[in-house]
Amino acid sequence: MRGVFPLTILALCASATTQDSLQAKVQQAENERRTCRANLQVIANAEMAHRVKTRGGFTSNLKLLDDMFEMNPTCPNGGSYSVVVGVPSDSFTVHCSVLSHDAGALQPAGYSPEIHGRYENSEAYEQMRQRDPHRATCRANLQTLSNAEIAHKVVHGEFAADLSLLVESLQAMPVCPDGGRYHAVINDPLNSFTIHCSIKRHDAGVLEPRGYSPGRNTR
Ligand SMILES: [Zn+2]
Ligand SMILES: [Zn+2]
Repeated sequence: MRGVFPLTILALCASATTQDSLQAKVQQAENERRTCRANLQVIANAEMAHRVKTRGGFTSNLKLLDDMFEMNPTCPNGGSYSVVVGVPSDSFTVHCSVLSHDAGALQPAGYSPEIHGRYENSEAYEQMRQRDPHRATCRANLQTLSNAEIAHKVVHGEFAADLSLLVESLQAMPVCPDGGRYHAVINDPLNSFTIHCSIKRHDAGVLEPRGYSPGRNTR
């Protein structure tokens, strides 16, 4: 029996280290996402300045915004930025090609001052993050996976029941900050799906059914 103790201690140390490096990875990814969201906002501000300066509309040609920046905003994960000008032309959305950066907190993908700006700069958002930052990060991950499902269907004609198939449109698989596992349920007739986290607190909707499904449960 004497030999058991050192082994147990070793195992405990190993799992603590794994947990620490998981937390560090999650924190780093979250910091990179925040930097990128701030860039999206910088580009949005430049769009608004461009419209004033040209007395025209918004532009999807980012090169035209170059003289608005002291330094061009750069995605920390090498994503590329684009702008979709809305119809009517008095709206626009800025996107990053990295899906986890592009995902809104509770809103559609991308960044538009009207939809995302108000919320992401609001006290309600900060409170939600502070109340349960792990859940907030995990819900953003569920949205990232959901966006990747939609991209997968465009390319392959169907949603992926196996989430590992989504890695082609994600630069890295999102990691639940509490070590939960993600899985997808594809509903008949194959035109809807729900992404789940195995941690119940993350999976629970605010007022909606469990999981994350676009258009039905996004909070
Ligand atoms: Zn980015
Ligand atoms: Zn989770």
